[in-house]
Amino acid sequence: MSKSNRSAGIMTTAIHAGDPPDASTNASAPPIHMSSTYVTEDLAGFSAHDLTPDSPYVYSRWANPTVAGLEAKIAALQGTEACLATASGMAAASAIFFTFLSAGDHLVISDVSYAGVAEIARETLPRMGIEVSAVNMSDLTAVAAAIRPNTRLIHTETPVNPINRLTDLAEISRLAKQVGALLSCDATFASPLGMDTVALGVDLTMHSITKYIGGHGDAIGGAVAGPSELVSKMRAEAAIHHGGILSPFNAWLIARGASTLPLRMKAHEVGAKAVSDWLEADPRVSRVIYPGLASHPQADLAKRQMTNMSGMISFQVGSTADGERVAQQMIERLKVIHYAVSLGHHRSLIFWMGTDALMETSFQLQGAQLEDYRRYAGDGIFRLSVGLEDAEDLIADLDGALG
Ligand SMILES: *Cc1c(COP(=O)(O)O)cnc(C)c1O
Repeated sequence: MSKSNRSAGIMTTAIHAGDPPDASTNASAPPIHMSSTYVTEDLAGFSAHDLTPDSPYVYSRWANPTVAGLEAKIAALQGTEACLATASGMAAASAIFFTFLSAGDHLVISDVSYAGVAEIARETLPRMGIEVSAVNMSDLTAVAAAIRPNTRLIHTETPVNPINRLTDLAEISRLAKQVGALLSCDATFASPLGMDTVALGVDLTMHSITKYIGGHGDAIGGAVAGPSELVSKMRAEAAIHHGGILSPFNAWLIARGASTLPLRMKAHEVGAKAVSDWLEADPRVSRVIYPGLASHPQADLAKRQMTNMSGMISFQVGSTADGERVAQQMIERLKVIHYAVSLGHHRSLIFWMGTDALMETSFQLQGAQLEDYRRYAGDGIFRLSVGLEDAEDLIADLDGALG
């Protein structure tokens, strides 16, 4: 299944998938099932291995109706058979790594990725006996050269946080298939509206649903969407055994946000285009990287692969000292945009990321990999998540803070 053979339109899917009228009350809006356990009528088994997709509810670490509703909605939006919701985006990444990798296996991962994911790959997985190669995923020759006979998983992220570099998923999928490796993609920046990952050959699509899918900055969660067989393995291992499950209350908040995702993504894209055009024309800004701009180094790939350019902009203002000065001005002067980490919310958010500091803490790149990072990020970037406010107000706010 891929998005192109979904039976209803995208807005209808976002609103109704996973949210039928409540069977016991006919309530039109979904209830929140805050129950940890369920009264059983059968002598059910008590192991993760007894769980089948049509098992009755037993205990909420196994499955919960409110969480299941959100999982059905995300699977429908991404065009996959199934989805596992997790306590956070980091728990989603951990679910992939710790379900599908064992000692002696090899992982190929992007040399730039969400900082927590980069740190787990560098520090935790090798401790478990997993071999890890971090490569520039925009360089297909480097990816092909990194693959070994024991490569079990290729983990990509596109557009990559925080520099908006893209990965050609169809090409990487071809490489993964040659060695029988799984391909996972962190599509948080793109949202399910930004790419048809199934058609591009991705096996497991993960999201920090704290970001666009929830969309309102009030709940942390994660998700991995994919074929039922792979999702069932993750449910047994990562949810039932490792235990990083999403609470029903957060699932309810995030499902309410997800119902308007297609509308919001259209508005994020329109807003980000207006703001990135303005930034690109401003002499105080030295470089703007946004997949929807003709100046993006991979603009052709963006057009081919992305169905919505999203609301994430990276821009530079010069040296590290310039960046720190402007960041301080933003903290003091911004009236609409919040100076804060995170992204994908209705409120616009901005954060400065100096290249030297980020190299030290998260990426530790050297040589050609560091040079390529600097080709996108220079001495540092502002990561701007364009929210749903009026673009003129965001532009006036940035104009006052760039100084
Ligand atoms: C935020 C983020 C994560 C981690 O998600 P949490 O919900 O904060 O745990 C992973 N990947 C990307 C691309 C992110 O932006």
